[in-house]
Amino acid sequence: MTDILLSVRNLRVVFPHRHGDLVPIDDISFNVKKGEIIGFVGESGAGKSMTGAAIMGLIDDPGIIESGEIWLGDVRIDQLDAKRLIKIRGKRIGMIFQDPLTSLNPLKTIGDQLVETILAHLPVNADQAKRKALIGLEEVGIDSGRFNAFPHEFSGGMRQRVVIALALAAEPELIIADEPTTALDVSVQAQVLELLKKLCRERNASVMLITHDMGVIAETTDRVAVLYAGRLAEIGNTASLLSSPRHPYTRGLIASTPSVEHGDISTHLYQIEGSMPRLDALPTGCSFHPRCQDALPRCRLRQPEVINESVACFLYE
Ligand code: SF4
Repeated sequence: MTDILLSVRNLRVVFPHRHGDLVPIDDISFNVKKGEIIGFVGESGAGKSMTGAAIMGLIDDPGIIESGEIWLGDVRIDQLDAKRLIKIRGKRIGMIFQDPLTSLNPLKTIGDQLVETILAHLPVNADQAKRKALIGLEEVGIDSGRFNAFPHEFSGGMRQRVVIALALAAEPELIIADEPTTALDVSVQAQVLELLKKLCRERNASVMLITHDMGVIAETTDRVAVLYAGRLAEIGNTASLLSSPRHPYTRGLIASTPSVEHGDISTHLYQIEGSMPRLDALPTGCSFHPRCQDALPRCRLRQPEVINESVACFLYE
């Protein structure tokens, strides 16, 4: 029996364009194990959210999955028609977005939204759905007495708890959480992440946590994938990757993360020179080479392949 829940193989997403195709995801492969929390990190435009959208079948027009495969267990989900995909979404894969307001219907009580989700995906009657909804609210730390409250009656942190309850309501095997705490205060962020981690551990659900924040990665994930300009730069166990990063981009991301150690706040923060290239102006060779202090002559000519399923960089060939 395999412990792999999600397998993404050589995924390539293309947006056709009259001046040449735009490729926000290029040849990305990774697995997500059952019960694992895997982080996806990188700057804006790295391809993190697009990877999540491809798995959910939510790539905006005119984007397409040009090649590659996405397997959820033994079901190849990138080839499903819309009707079958809707059944998988919500039931087997739950999604948490950055802004809870966009995930909640402002005109319906949170109780009604939970009951609807449960009835849509689980074989229960209305009474059983309501009981499950009340338990779900308590699990995320919301008093079940607020079942009939509307989203606007909650604070940002509490709304994100409601969204977590909704995402978990149908007992999915995989949660894709796209910057779930970016819009929240720092103190609330930690609570919400801790809650997500606890509930997913209890249910043996896997989580793909998309974030630009290395601190969140360090606190929350078992493994981490670093993306750059639509390609996988490095992937590995979180503790090892953070203590011994190999890809120059990973090293830069870690060095530019603020740290507070022993009460000392570092006053100088490292910056990676330059910025993420635009999709219509990707450099030749390794996309990172214009910003890389270790670049070799060959880095301008060829894209490095991912070596030993861990790092895509000529320094390790
Ligand atoms: Fe730097 Fe070359 Fe490695 Fe790219 S392949 S990260 S340019 S050393």
